[in-house]
Amino acid sequence: MFKKILVANRGEIALRIQRACRELGVKAVMVYSEADRDAKYVKLAEEAVCIGPASSALSYLNMPAIISAAEVTDAEAIHPGYGFLSENADFAERVERSGFQFIGPTPESIRIMGDKVSAKQAMIKAGVPCVPGSEGELPDDPVQIKRIAKSVGYPVIIKAAGGGGGRGMRVVHTEAAVINAVAMTKAEAGAAFGNPAVYMEKYLQNPRHIEIQILADKYKNAVYLGERDCSMQRRHQKVIEEAPALGIPRKLIERVGDRCVAACKKIGYRGAGTFEFLYEDGEFYFIEMNTRVQVEHPVTEMTTGIDIVKTQIMVAAGEKLPFTQRQIQIRGHAIECRLNAEDSYKFTPSPGRITMWHPPGGPGVRVDSHIYTNYFVPPNYDSMIGKIIVHGDTREQALARMRTALGETVIEGINTNIALHRELMVDAKFMEGGTNIHYLEGWLANHTR
Ligand code: ADP
Repeated sequence: MFKKILVANRGEIALRIQRACRELGVKAVMVYSEADRDAKYVKLAEEAVCIGPASSALSYLNMPAIISAAEVTDAEAIHPGYGFLSENADFAERVERSGFQFIGPTPESIRIMGDKVSAKQAMIKAGVPCVPGSEGELPDDPVQIKRIAKSVGYPVIIKAAGGGGGRGMRVVHTEAAVINAVAMTKAEAGAAFGNPAVYMEKYLQNPRHIEIQILADKYKNAVYLGERDCSMQRRHQKVIEEAPALGIPRKLIERVGDRCVAACKKIGYRGAGTFEFLYEDGEFYFIEMNTRVQVEHPVTEMTTGIDIVKTQIMVAAGEKLPFTQRQIQIRGHAIECRLNAEDSYKFTPSPGRITMWHPPGGPGVRVDSHIYTNYFVPPNYDSMIGKIIVHGDTREQALARMRTALGETVIEGINTNIALHRELMVDAKFMEGGTNIHYLEGWLANHTR
């Protein structure tokens, strides 16, 4: 096992990784920007290094600063968390070339999966079902584009190969609009992701977002830890996640899970990863893979009893996966609500000083958050300030526990989305379960406030 690792992230995930290190008896070096000087995990750290000013470009995305911090503190490995440099193959490569272990897959795996066109091609080869669409990148020829769209069938969605974070996608309903839509998405993708390549998929009308968590070691052992339902989204961004997904036959999940595991073995994948699917009319369609730990990993930890972050570190250190597929049992139901510093219904960010924080507690309640009373939420980063996760024997019990937990939670001084979560937890359709990816947007549109 490593003696010391460097945590190249901030916020709740930095604290989460620090906790995993403590359990493993590994020292964690925390890095921070000037805006995060007073962060809880920085105060708790044995060692912390300032890597630059508030701007992410100059701190959490600053590769030389992060690598020098690892050098001066004698860390052996770097955990990238999620976001920032976590899916940057060049960073993974520089980390390894500088003599550190990158806690994640190889740069080659990140590269293949980071490009959605090559990821889809790899998945098709491995026998993972994909959304029907263009075979690879769209050509420039308008005649060919129209021919492809016709064979896929309208509506179609044009997606950037390098896209992420819900950006770089455009839905097209008619042949008259397709050429212009492709040109616009290409231009945007070039500007936003430095890669103008786009591809086409059938636009599914009422799918659910279901994803499979996997873990793999360096010896081609891989397992899946069941699925998560992340259909409650706003602007293609997840708001509530849960595990397991209601009403999907176990046999089908097992079949897809086995395919994901086979794909991992085929590409020599190591570490934690997530295969994201759209699920419609009893069929799974792969959309992309995330090659890192995800925000919503706790719901899987609660239902499997497996510590995903600890396992990431263990396999990066060269240990074998400590469990086999047969030993993985799904127990009960877990739900996660993301807490954002934003207005509950207008979604305008609300950074500032938290004058009062009273977290919830009780059986089956977990709070992953770095905030505290008198903490200042900096305006420079993502608005997520933490997560409340609950576990129960049944979905009903988990819902009841989440209602109680949200009822106990107090955050004063800034606006948060707690009011939205409280309403959704008593919404009849959400309580029934199985809502699709458009449900929350529709609900918000009808919400007159
Ligand atoms: P990103 O990498 O930006 O998160 P994804 O490919 O994972 O992009 O897609 C994000 C979300 O966009 C999905 O969860 C879904 O809501 C929607 N989406 C993507 N592809 C399709 C599709 N073919 N049909 C319908 N919705 C889609």
